[in-house]
Amino acid sequence: MTREATCSCGNLRVLCTGEPELVSLCHCIACQKRTSAPYGVAAFFLKQHVEVSGSYKNYRRSSDAGYDLVFHFCARCGSTVFWEPLRKPDMFAIGVGSFGDPGFPKPRKEVHTDCRHAWVKPLDPMST
Ligand SMILES: [Zn+2]
Ligand SMILES: [Zn+2]
Repeated sequence: MTREATCSCGNLRVLCTGEPELVSLCHCIACQKRTSAPYGVAAFFLKQHVEVSGSYKNYRRSSDAGYDLVFHFCARCGSTVFWEPLRKPDMFAIGVGSFGDPGFPKPRKEVHTDCRHAWVKPLDPMST
């Protein structure tokens, strides 16, 4: 199976083959800032299963865990489509919203629940 994640304008495209290794929901404030949404959801794919096309710029930041993250965003429309968590050097993380696919596999874990908005229900990892 292949799925394609794209930025808002379609310049930056990330083609992913196979199923994600992990889908994770993060409530942290940095993910809220990245997405402009109350939480972020990331799909992790092995780099060899990912093909990137289009131009992008980079934004690097540190994290609480001590490993930097390098975000890749479209220079034209500004969407962050994918990034490199240096804690997992063999993986790309891809923003699940960038797939534009309501049938995308759901997150099986959530992190930084201390920052979860009060109206957001806790994740039930067992439900479909
Ligand atoms: Zn774009
Ligand atoms: Zn986060």
